[in-house]
Amino acid sequence: MNPEESRRGVKHGHGSFKKVKRVGKESAPHPPSLDDSLEGDLRAFLIDEDQLHTYDDLTKVNPVTPTTVLKCLQARYRAQVFYTHAGCTLVALNPFQPIPDLYSLDVMREYHSAAQPQESKPHVFIVAEEAYRNVQGQLQPVNQSLVVSGESGAGKTWTSRCLMKYYATVAASSSVLKSQDTVDRIEKRVLDSNPIMEAFGNACTLRNHNSSRFGKYIQLQLDRSQFLVGASVQTYLLEKTRVACQPANERNFHIFYQASMMKGASGEQRKEWKMSHGQSFNWLPKTEKTLEGILQLGNIHFDAPVKESEPCALEGRSKEFLQRAAGLLCVPAEELENCLAVRTLMAGKQSILKPCSRSECGVRRDCLAKVIYAHLFEWLTIFINNSICADNSTWCNFIGLLDVYGFECFQVNNLEQLCINYANEKLQQHFVAHYLRAQQEEYVSEGLEWSFVRYQDNQSCLDLIEGNPTGVFSLLNEECRLNRASDAGKFRVRLEKELSDHGNISWDKFSKEPHFTVTHYAGRVSYQIEGMMEKNKDPVPPEIIALLQGSGNPLLGQVFEDQEPENTATRGLSKVVTVVAKFKNSLESLMKILHSTTPHYTRCIKPNPDCKPLTFHKKEVIMQLEACGIVETIHISAAGFPIRIPFSGFIQRYGLISRSSQIKQLVHSMDSEPGHDDLLRTAVDAIVSEALGSRSTGPVYRGERDSHTS
Ligand code: ATP
Ligand code: MG
Repeated sequence: MNPEESRRGVKHGHGSFKKVKRVGKESAPHPPSLDDSLEGDLRAFLIDEDQLHTYDDLTKVNPVTPTTVLKCLQARYRAQVFYTHAGCTLVALNPFQPIPDLYSLDVMREYHSAAQPQESKPHVFIVAEEAYRNVQGQLQPVNQSLVVSGESGAGKTWTSRCLMKYYATVAASSSVLKSQDTVDRIEKRVLDSNPIMEAFGNACTLRNHNSSRFGKYIQLQLDRSQFLVGASVQTYLLEKTRVACQPANERNFHIFYQASMMKGASGEQRKEWKMSHGQSFNWLPKTEKTLEGILQLGNIHFDAPVKESEPCALEGRSKEFLQRAAGLLCVPAEELENCLAVRTLMAGKQSILKPCSRSECGVRRDCLAKVIYAHLFEWLTIFINNSICADNSTWCNFIGLLDVYGFECFQVNNLEQLCINYANEKLQQHFVAHYLRAQQEEYVSEGLEWSFVRYQDNQSCLDLIEGNPTGVFSLLNEECRLNRASDAGKFRVRLEKELSDHGNISWDKFSKEPHFTVTHYAGRVSYQIEGMMEKNKDPVPPEIIALLQGSGNPLLGQVFEDQEPENTATRGLSKVVTVVAKFKNSLESLMKILHSTTPHYTRCIKPNPDCKPLTFHKKEVIMQLEACGIVETIHISAAGFPIRIPFSGFIQRYGLISRSSQIKQLVHSMDSEPGHDDLLRTAVDAIVSEALGSRSTGPVYRGERDSHTS
């Protein structure tokens, strides 16, 4: 079975689900159920259940355990409160139904005009507003990033859309906040790019009816007055295999089903697109009408050749479909057929024609469809960028929104899942480095009393995947660059030889299929090796590129214009840029951008696997909370200093209570001259000492403890 076909959308879950120990009943004959455990924990900790829904910030829950956090979120969900702070992170529970007025213009106005938005009810608009003010408020403006994470269907794209709408409204140069008018001009154009990208990049899957099959980082460009003047989109790893092969009970990309093309096509358009009534497409499950030229390819099949030396012949009505496809792609039908059925081999300067086997013909047909779609998607991204990107001279800061696919673990996982899970590891590391490690290290450097909170550092998993020269990616690339047929068994042996000492990789000795299992921060995932090398090489036969370059269709001609045909037979594979190499590079650029910005994290949680409205499954939720290390985050935020005031801000706010004339003078001069860090630090020290009524002997506190923290 094809690996794509055998891929099922059934989730194994994220990480091991730890049962919570039942308090006071250790000799129970059966393991305690989750419910028993929860109740036990709550009884033991004497938490007032009636009040749980009132906890706006999970750092206020005392004590912080997976159980108490879960219960609190459940109580809030039941009370239809979907956002909760978790220290530096916002937890967003998906209601799976529209909630009236949760994102209205009035609500936007409320958060935008609040003196202290953080004190308002938790909402994704608080995160948005905080980022907006951060760009605005600094002496030196800092770019911001809003990282939205969560598993498939958790609400990342929805949240990103809300954030975009918020900025398109509050940062609009037109006075949209004053009227009920919808946003227009550039703001509208930026928002309008969403449905187009989603039409081409999203599909209905078993986990989400509008699942993003690509990653997206959109930079909203702001001018000096903080108006939104443009945006640019960067996309990552489109799941192009979906064009030619959809997992069971899943669909192709939305665009193929779009009403304008399907139902809305006029008679003339039908004629132009060579669509007949009632024609069905293998690549369009559950659809009766016909679409574009690319789909006609899916209906082309070949018969085995009569003689081995002859090319495969077209099967049944395939000739008709091939002619339609050729017409729509504006290439000669005969050339299209040859390109699918015959390979050109180079022997020195001589070319030899070799008929392809029946299955090779199918692979070439799929490859043609995928390469066209992937290039169209790239072209679309450039096209959108050209129409929404502001001139460099007009913008000075940006707020970036990151919406990437969440951690994936299917029954069968291949290269796509490895890349996606690697991206999630990178983001988790960024989070760990930014909040958990950096925060604790800063406390230590400031001499604050602090006992370290343990957290899961995923560096070793990243070393396993991206390590050079002995990481999974490097070994895979090396294997792919050797000009020989892929051999899954050999690659598995190589991995075992090179990586057997690594704690994050293992092998099931009894499994017949060559595979390897990686222990990710969010759980263990087994990756099938069969097909992985071919996917990584992602070869496009040079005949296909040449065919498309000769197309009379101006768009196709344009998108393939600069593509150099990769004749691996003559050039060797050493120069081929592999899929993981490309992905790793683009991810590294993204991480560089993220590191140069102030990040804000929103963790979207999917409360049940069936996308049912207002339904909360504890087991699913706790697995997601564990996978993203939310409890550790809360611990550090709760034990730490949630309010951090820069020295200058502290002096401006509290300097006036000082009796020292020098400090009072400093307060008045601060607007014009910010002062040096050392000077400010001494002044803060003096203010604190004075307030405490004694000379400070210890270090100066950069923050103040919030009353609710321990
Ligand atoms: P994927 O990784 O598959 O792209 P995702 O995390 O982007 O998933 P979304 O497409 O954003 O998930 O959300 C799935 C569905 O959940 C939405 O189509 C919508 O129906 C519902 N949903 C998400 N967030 C909300 C919300 N805040 N209010 C109402 N419905 C929501
Ligand atoms: Mg999405």
